[in-house]
Amino acid sequence: MTATPRACSNCGRPLAGDEHGPKPLCAACKRAIVRRATPWAHIIGALIGLAAVFGIATIFPQYIRFLVGWLTIGGLIYYVTFKVVRRAAFEVIRARGIPVFRRS
Ligand SMILES: [Zn+2]
Repeated sequence: MTATPRACSNCGRPLAGDEHGPKPLCAACKRAIVRRATPWAHIIGALIGLAAVFGIATIFPQYIRFLVGWLTIGGLIYYVTFKVVRRAAFEVIRARGIPVFRRS
């Protein structure tokens, strides 16, 4: 281990030292990326969750009255998709680079 201070791969600010990997990011840049990834995750999660519920309800119409159950399943699928998509979008946005807002 070297004691060389590492810099954020996006904004160049020095890192606290708990960052690893080829493209380390400071906390501010990570937050900015998560903020950008979150709306995508919400949209895609909601679409897939709704599609799954309507798909299940179409295949099993006799169970349509258990709407609360379907909504629970839809919500669950939405949540899982949300987490996966946000993680994936994080990597995509990080690879693309994000603009740095410096307070002056
Ligand atoms: Zn940074």
